[in-house]
Amino acid sequence: MPLRPPIYLDYHATTPVDPRVVDCVVSYMTTQFGNASSVDHEYGDAAAAAVTDAKREIAELLGSSLGSVIFTSGATESINLALQGLANSRRAPSSPLRIGLSPLEHRAVIDTCEVLERRGAARLTWFLVDTAGRLDLQQLEDRCRDGLDLVCVMAANNEIGTIYPLLEISRICARWGVRLFTDATQAAGKVPLEFDEWGIALMAVTAHKMYGPKGVGALLVAPGIDIDPLIHGGGHQRGLRSGTLNVPGIAGFGLACQLRRKEMAGDEPLIACMRDRLQASLVEAIPDAVVNGDKSNRLAGNLHVSIPGVPNTAVMARLRHLLAISTGSACSSGTVAQSHVMRALGLSDDLVEGSLRFGLGKFTTDEEVSSAAFHVTAAVEKVRHALGA
Ligand code: PLP
Repeated sequence: MPLRPPIYLDYHATTPVDPRVVDCVVSYMTTQFGNASSVDHEYGDAAAAAVTDAKREIAELLGSSLGSVIFTSGATESINLALQGLANSRRAPSSPLRIGLSPLEHRAVIDTCEVLERRGAARLTWFLVDTAGRLDLQQLEDRCRDGLDLVCVMAANNEIGTIYPLLEISRICARWGVRLFTDATQAAGKVPLEFDEWGIALMAVTAHKMYGPKGVGALLVAPGIDIDPLIHGGGHQRGLRSGTLNVPGIAGFGLACQLRRKEMAGDEPLIACMRDRLQASLVEAIPDAVVNGDKSNRLAGNLHVSIPGVPNTAVMARLRHLLAISTGSACSSGTVAQSHVMRALGLSDDLVEGSLRFGLGKFTTDEEVSSAAFHVTAAVEKVRHALGA
């Protein structure tokens, strides 16, 4: 009998590409392969039209105008363009950009901010979070009142799934004349977002977390927000991001956004039901398991649990060929360092070391959820037995 591939429950790391998006990407790599900057023939016209259509889809999903969308290679580049671009746009002699940020931001945000700080281009203020990853909004307002130029708060966390109240945060920012940058990588296509209406200055998104291809993303830039480019060249995209546009990726990203806009409201409650069933099965079989994050306000596909006294590395060693889950974010699980998110939540070492992240999505089935609960429970029992616990 052929071996079954491991059950994929790591949708926060990346999602499978929707087959409709695959067809679209392939068509822009084969028959419609033109360069969107080729103004002299119909191949170029078709590519340029595909880019405009994709821009419209992205703008519609995220509630922005067409002109706000700058295509990039993904969220990491969008984040760098937003943060470095803002800091670099301050003309000398200027004071450092005063940035307030959550300690639970993705490393792409934290590392970029810290590089800017080391260069003397930014001064960082850290916001407070509780053990569920919720922000202390009073402290955020106090820090805005003290004087900030930019607040960075992600729309939803990639490890514990906590969703942030962006509208409330943007109102606080507006009261004190502070701009808001949000990394919406995990939230886009899963929860409603309104870039223009909520007064957000900059928003980073990526296609591969919403059933689109890897290597394509966007930065939304509100009118009047001045950023310097990171990449100079042919003056593409109003000079903000030069380089021949990745038309297949962009067209696929556009279609992925259209599909999310039409299907998100139907898919997400079903995903949440499966997540709740997985959670209930695990908690029933492992009564001391702790569910992390804000249980009343998290991404539908997110389940983050800690099993005290059971190192996640030992569980993963037993599950690797059966189940694709994660001990942290994909970026940090490649290194030995513990997740900065788990650390910032102030959880005990036992809970940090015993944490497992499950990510469900629209292709997850009930049968996979049942099998996953069975395999995890069996692996935890074996680890406990081996440890004599
Ligand atoms: N921000 C968050 C919250 C993420 O989860 C990720 C990817 O894991 C990124 C940024 C980086 O995205 P990309 O892979 O498109 O560079």
